[in-house]
Amino acid sequence: MVHCNMKIRADEIWFLFSNEEFTNRRLEIAICPKCDKQLARLVETRIQDNKRLDVMYSAKKAKRLIESCRNEVDFSSLDIPKQNKVLYGFRYGENTERINKKTGESTIIQKAVDFYGNKERVN
Ligand SMILES: [Zn+2]
Repeated sequence: MVHCNMKIRADEIWFLFSNEEFTNRRLEIAICPKCDKQLARLVETRIQDNKRLDVMYSAKKAKRLIESCRNEVDFSSLDIPKQNKVLYGFRYGENTERINKKTGESTIIQKAVDFYGNKERVN
């Protein structure tokens, strides 16, 4: 999240249940260290057209959003043991092709990247 020209890391992330319209839903929650305002960022995928929506609110609107999501929480990032964080959450794959210069053989290196930007080789 960005507020007061600063990049702010979420204090907590709520993973929300899918509903009829949206899936892969998460709510990032933080307090801006500069202005002390409540921040909330909702990221979700619209099922109809597979569009990723990403909205951020601050202050009262953020509080309202957090309240409205409270009943939809599947689990929170705080529920996940720290050592498992790398393996958890929404991950996407990143493939890199490596070509062996001697043999000309190519290998695909697959990495899983989670929402913290942590990378983990999967093959
Ligand atoms: Zn701020």
